[in-house]
Amino acid sequence: MTEVEDLREADRRKDEFLAILAHELRNPLAPLQTGLEIIRQVATASPTLTQTMNMMERQMRQLVRLVDDLRDGSGIARGKLQLQRRPVVLMKAVEQALEASRPILEAHGHDPIVHYRDDRLVVDGDPARLAQILTNLLSNCAKYTEPGGTITLTVERDGDDAVISVSDTGIGIPPDYLEDVFEMFSQVRVHQARSRGGLGIGLALVRRLVQMHGGSVTAHSLGIGTGSTFTVRLPSIADPVPKDNACSSAKPAAVIEGIKARRFLVVDDNDDAAALLAVLLELEGHEVQTAANGGDAVQRAEVFRPEVVLMDLDMPGIDGFEASRRIRARPWGSTILIAALTGWGQDVDRRRAQEAGVDFHFVKPVDTTALLGVVARSLNDGRHIDLP
Ligand code: ADP
Repeated sequence: MTEVEDLREADRRKDEFLAILAHELRNPLAPLQTGLEIIRQVATASPTLTQTMNMMERQMRQLVRLVDDLRDGSGIARGKLQLQRRPVVLMKAVEQALEASRPILEAHGHDPIVHYRDDRLVVDGDPARLAQILTNLLSNCAKYTEPGGTITLTVERDGDDAVISVSDTGIGIPPDYLEDVFEMFSQVRVHQARSRGGLGIGLALVRRLVQMHGGSVTAHSLGIGTGSTFTVRLPSIADPVPKDNACSSAKPAAVIEGIKARRFLVVDDNDDAAALLAVLLELEGHEVQTAANGGDAVQRAEVFRPEVVLMDLDMPGIDGFEASRRIRARPWGSTILIAALTGWGQDVDRRRAQEAGVDFHFVKPVDTTALLGVVARSLNDGRHIDLP
């Protein structure tokens, strides 16, 4: 091998290693996060406990974000990012991003102002990835703006483009860095005096995903202390949304409350993960059974007739893909809601799961509030909603 080939091979192995690392770090996070939610539900009120729980949940979210960034960063390097595009009402993606960013925004004392100057804009995009782009930008605004500052998100039309700008009144970016911040692992040197928890991957991912959508992203700032604005421009397509859906300014959709009791089958070869999730669902008033592998899942489903199956995909023997296919093939199986709960969030896994009959794909550790919201909406509406 030549020296260049050696270097390429070493680089490829490093990217492979980062992908495996991100995956392996995710698995233990899932039961830890569920465990925290359970303690919160059953523990008696005590200020010390509440404070400790809040701290642990904040740290956990931070850890999950870092692992997500690591996974996506290695995805960019290995050319593994893919989009599943379809017409998406941009306002919906924005609302998902606001919902997903709520914890970090709240942790930093922010409540963004949102302007939909055009709420009928539709883009040909991947809803999950569009939400991810905006979540990254909003999280940065939260991180780099002191409490009391203002974060503003505006959606508007400019000719045939949809333009989303996310601004803050935070620490700003020196002019020399406005282009560099989009490079992988880049962080503004003057900001590093105080770490704000990041790997320097978020904006590289934003730029890559925006480009894959045929758009562009730019950063503006007049320098340190003057705030920053990130502008995403995407080609829009003709809008199919009826006019009476219009509204000029909105807050993120509230998380669905008052969930009706349902029959859940939780399938996971990790006993701890399955048992913890079952306890959590029971605490919410649902009826729950668990299965430790795909074969067991199909048998149990035959008798228990769950309304919702939460399916781990990667299991020895009959895996979650095959179990989903078998459940779907049964006469009673076509109307069941199947949600994959998996460590693997690559596009190829999502597609395979979809082909096997899975309705929703959640990457562990799962935000159970979001999961139950999706379940409630799907079952109550009788239709499935596109969420990441
Ligand atoms: P990180 O994980 O460090 O936040 P990003 O790729 O998201 O990585 O951002 C790269 C760098 O750009 C950050 O380290 C920070 O210095 C700067 N940056 C990003 N967003 C903002 C913002 N809203 N205000 C000020 N600086 C920002």
